[in-house]
This record gives sequence, structure tokens and C-alpha cells, in this order.
Amino acid sequence: MLRDLSQTCGGDGCSNALSDPLIVYETPAGERRAYECCCGAVTITVAK
Ligand SMILES: [Zn+2]
Repeated sequence: MLRDLSQTCGGDGCSNALSDPLIVYETPAGERRAYECCCGAVTITVAK
């Protein structure tokens, strides 16, 4: 549960690895993390 899979950017034509979350916050559905890539795309993940 504590293991983090490395995230990759969801931007078109971009597959950069994302390391440090820009924002982490809790919701009733789980922890959400927003990553900002150098291409400008923001990828949001949900972890339970
Ligand atoms: Zn990107």
C-alpha cells in the first residue's frame, strides 16, 4: 500500500517520468496527487 509506482506524464506525445508531486491532498475516495510535467501537462493520480 505504501509502494508508489512511478508515474508518467499524460500529455500528448510526452512520456516523461514524474517524481515529486506538486500537490497532495486527501479526498474521501483516496489520496490525490497532482504532478506537473516540464511540458506543462498536469497529471492527477488517485491512491487508496
Ligand atoms: Zn509531459
